[in-house]
Amino acid sequence: MLIPEDVIERVREYNDIVDVISESIPLKKKGKNYVGLCPFHNEKTPSFMVNQDKQIYHCFGCGEGGNVISFVMKYRNLGFVDAVIMLAERANVIIPDKSANIDDSKIKLKKELYNLNKETARYFYYNLHNKKNLNALDYFRNRGINSDIINKFGLGFSLDSWDSLYKYLTSKGFKPELIEKSGLIIKKETSGYYDRFRNRVMFPVIDVRGRVIGFGGRVLDDSKPKYLNSPETIIFNKGYNLYGLNIVSKINTDRKIIIVEGYMDAIALHQYGISNVVASLGTALTINQAKLLKRYCDEVYICYDSDSAGREATLRGLDILTNAGCDVKIVNLPRSKDPDEFIRSEGEEAFLKAVKKAMPLTEYVIRRSSEGYDLSTTEGKIGFIKSSAEALAQINDPIIVDAYAVKLSAETGISSSALYEEIKRIKANDDKQKYISGNNRYNNRIDGQKLYLEPAYLKAERSILHVIWENRECFDAIEKKLSWEDFNDDIYRKVANAIYKDIKQGKDVNPASIINMFDTTEAMAKVTQIFETNVKYNANLDEMIDDYIGLINKHRLQSRKEQITTQARECDEKGDIGASAKLLNELMEIEKKLRMI
Ligand SMILES: [Zn+2]
Repeated sequence: MLIPEDVIERVREYNDIVDVISESIPLKKKGKNYVGLCPFHNEKTPSFMVNQDKQIYHCFGCGEGGNVISFVMKYRNLGFVDAVIMLAERANVIIPDKSANIDDSKIKLKKELYNLNKETARYFYYNLHNKKNLNALDYFRNRGINSDIINKFGLGFSLDSWDSLYKYLTSKGFKPELIEKSGLIIKKETSGYYDRFRNRVMFPVIDVRGRVIGFGGRVLDDSKPKYLNSPETIIFNKGYNLYGLNIVSKINTDRKIIIVEGYMDAIALHQYGISNVVASLGTALTINQAKLLKRYCDEVYICYDSDSAGREATLRGLDILTNAGCDVKIVNLPRSKDPDEFIRSEGEEAFLKAVKKAMPLTEYVIRRSSEGYDLSTTEGKIGFIKSSAEALAQINDPIIVDAYAVKLSAETGISSSALYEEIKRIKANDDKQKYISGNNRYNNRIDGQKLYLEPAYLKAERSILHVIWENRECFDAIEKKLSWEDFNDDIYRKVANAIYKDIKQGKDVNPASIINMFDTTEAMAKVTQIFETNVKYNANLDEMIDDYIGLINKHRLQSRKEQITTQARECDEKGDIGASAKLLNELMEIEKKLRMI
């Protein structure tokens, strides 16, 4: 069901946020705002704030935020449409019963894509078993993968050809436009299409309802990129799915799940009889994946590569999973790089042993903070204790803190009382910071306890939007240097478009209605941040704006540069010298611009 935008807007306007929220939790007036105990995290002193002017809410403790609709979604655990319907009833707004056919066409498209993906998976599977492609089957066989597992996961192979899948699907009656929507083929700049996946072993991604929603492909040798995924489509949203969950959801009885990074990691573990394994789809774990996991398990074992990228991903996953209510442990695989290699060389027993020895979250954070300190020197010990204290200051449970304090003091010979003093000092400092800078602190915490620092361009994009919103007079100068299309982040770009438009038409920018352009609580909370960010103004505003714009442009140019490099390599492979030269020209232009920033 699709509700027209003006109706959504009316629903929001007729439901005052203070009225609606105070029906659920007690609010007290404090200055301009209303405050109360946050319903989304545990707290004793109120940090949940409702702003009647802006019609938004926001929690300094856990970072939740949004408008009246997202509050109802979150508080009552409703989808966007249901929340709107509930609020419409509350305020007697009538939702017209139209646009039913728009919805139909979307459902129809989805069905067609599921169908097309199923046919594609069959084709890849058939290729894998074709005697001409023994090298692909050998790839699996050499890794100990037998037919049972190949069938269970529907593994396959994409031919070393630019158009075999395209030809196959069109011969089955699928229209090129539909195939392009699935991401399986790519439109050439001149005319025609080519296959996205070539000469790769293929892993169909299947959702918990058993539908093929996308594909991953891995090269047979060491060429790059090692893994390639289907792009996001109307049915493939990587942040909402996990590879292998379709299997795990049916058999996992002890509510424990191991998360690995790669498709082959998951499959290798299954081959060795460890079947409660899923793989994240090449992205850092998202809150939606965490919620999905929570449905099927209580304990999550993170088993990522031990290289630095893997560890970065581990750290980010931790907070998200903890916030979703999962008990998180970190599996440390000695000597080997990834779970696939490990289980093949060391066997199932050794793997299970490593899982058994998995570190609780706190210990992992402390261990990580201690890296790089030489404990044989006094300076090293002091540094180690200080950074451990940082980690312990984040923990609210005194029993856990106590246990670690004793352990750490035994390890370093520094008294536990000195450690407690340090923790106390950090906590006091944190509280003072909170008091002085209000919501600045929350910017660091939105993705969890200070572990994840967001990229600079994201902060720059949020801050520049805030500056525009607060200082209308800066808009013309900013717009000359930064169009709304220049924003890198999809959500912020959409917001920039709306704010730019409002200002040009001389309209007021209304935070709550900007938030309304989005329909997930995550997106809504992220947009709320724009208006709730406390931008620390430099004495020189122009200079500050230029810095932000520089960061935003730099990120955009660098991403484009990476994209071009890949495209140019593909053109070279195809022998398309004309296109490759064109790309090289663009690359030089970008280099020039980058040097100027
Ligand atoms: Zn909260």
